[in-house]
Amino acid sequence: MAGNRTFSMIKPDAVRDGHSGSILKMIEAAGFRIVSIKLVHLTSEKAGEFYSVHTGKPFYDSLKSIMSESPIVALILEKENAVEDFRKFIGSTNPANAAEGTVRKLFAKSLERNAVHGSDSDENAKIEGDFFFSNLEKF
Ligand code: ATP
Ligand code: MG
Repeated sequence: MAGNRTFSMIKPDAVRDGHSGSILKMIEAAGFRIVSIKLVHLTSEKAGEFYSVHTGKPFYDSLKSIMSESPIVALILEKENAVEDFRKFIGSTNPANAAEGTVRKLFAKSLERNAVHGSDSDENAKIEGDFFFSNLEKF
């Protein structure tokens, strides 16, 4: 059975450009409940740890740099079928392919600066939520 929580980040560009409020409004309007939320300025090292699955890829160094430029908004979100529904809601990784009305279609600047992150499995949602929030903050 699919889990009911996912982890998301509003990425540095989108926060810096003042889109956090609009994106949070969309998230809530789409039926996701905010369980945990905080603003965090990642170091390049921590960003690299978060995206360690991409170690060695050509875009890894620039991803680390972009994700540590300025603060992100970290979020644990709750909804039935959360992981899959949230990935659909944010749209394709490359905003050029993102469907109309999705967060990435509306707010992404490029493939690298694509406004939001969404976990890709229930297992990773738990790992990523734990990366940012202690047990006390999660409930
Ligand atoms: P995210 O994990 O941020 O939600 P995703 O799961 O849609 O995105 P991943 O394959 O996990 O995509 O890539 C992580 C991030 O790395 C992407 O969101 C994007 O910012 C960047 N990225 C992915 N592929 C490329 C690429 N070919 N060139 C440049 N940047 C890329
Ligand atoms: Mg991913």
